[in-house]
Amino acid sequence: MENKNFRSWLSEMNLTHPLVIAGPCSAESEKQVLEVAHELKNTDATIFRAGVWKPRTRPGTFEGNGVKALPWIQKVKDETGLLTAVEIANAQHAKLALEFDIDVLWIGARTTVNPFAVQEIADAIQGTDKIVLVKNPINPDLELWIGAIERFHKMGVTNLGAIHRGFSSFRKSIYRNIPSWQIPIDLKNRYPSLPIINDPSHICGNRENIFDVSQTALDLKFDGLMIETHCDPDEAWSDAKQQIKPARLIEIMNELKVRKPRFEKEESVAKLNALRKEINAKDDQLLETLSERMQIVDNIGKAKKESNVAVLQNTRWQEILQKVTDSGEEHGLSKLFIEKIFKAIHQESISHQEKILKE
Ligand code: PEP
Ligand code: MN
Repeated sequence: MENKNFRSWLSEMNLTHPLVIAGPCSAESEKQVLEVAHELKNTDATIFRAGVWKPRTRPGTFEGNGVKALPWIQKVKDETGLLTAVEIANAQHAKLALEFDIDVLWIGARTTVNPFAVQEIADAIQGTDKIVLVKNPINPDLELWIGAIERFHKMGVTNLGAIHRGFSSFRKSIYRNIPSWQIPIDLKNRYPSLPIINDPSHICGNRENIFDVSQTALDLKFDGLMIETHCDPDEAWSDAKQQIKPARLIEIMNELKVRKPRFEKEESVAKLNALRKEINAKDDQLLETLSERMQIVDNIGKAKKESNVAVLQNTRWQEILQKVTDSGEEHGLSKLFIEKIFKAIHQESISHQEKILKE
């Protein structure tokens, strides 16, 4: 899969701006669907989204209008020319979406986590030329995300893309789903041609941060955005807090900055190269310091072995952590960052000493 070109569907759209997928979280009624679609008609939106089968956390809430909503979405295509997208979560949904000629099928985060469900859908749409977009699994597991994409590829689906919608976490956060940007970046590095779309709506869980998250996504060279859009967001039957009005979507698209892929002026390139040289030198210094530190750790390990002393010296470790986080803050380095680095260093030091004690 590594060297395949997955972008042709996107390149063929010849867009002069990032791809925009917009539309309500759920298709609530024919009127609602058409109203949003008409407002999106002459905007940057190319694809109209609407959930027909809704995976809800608790039963007893609105679970989508199902098959009855598919003709409404077909009407969107007829009346506005927008491409259409729905979420499919099983083989039956897949067959119906194909029957109603939906252009883009997306796999929801709760489905991507389940290889049986993904395989069932991949079997049902084998060889389709429809566009299939795979949302990340709810847990931050890159291999599981890739595995789902591979299942479609193996069944002859070639118009593929990924949607990054963040990851659930028990950690308190300003996000509904934490973006953990390194994961989509890793995906991009594994499959450089695979289009990656960001879904700021499900990352934020509110309207206020959608612009910021979208800008970060564009700064990280995402290919597009999927943004939940509703004419009366407060009254939406699902995800009311995070949906925005079409007028706000237009504003956001106007305000977002699309950065150039690289520096163009010669003097800027020279300046960048000089700064990168400095970074490389600092990285070398860091590695040298780490290696010297580890040699001292090994010597302490040998001393512990001689005296039969335990590897973990918790008081000392707490002391170090306190000292480095305090001193880090004085240097403008966040506590969280320093904690992460030193916990990793401590873990590696323990492994080294464990090895020495067992020799
Ligand atoms: C959605 O896009 O409406 C949806 C249910 O998203 P996710 O699968 O990301 O939760
Ligand atoms: Mn939603």
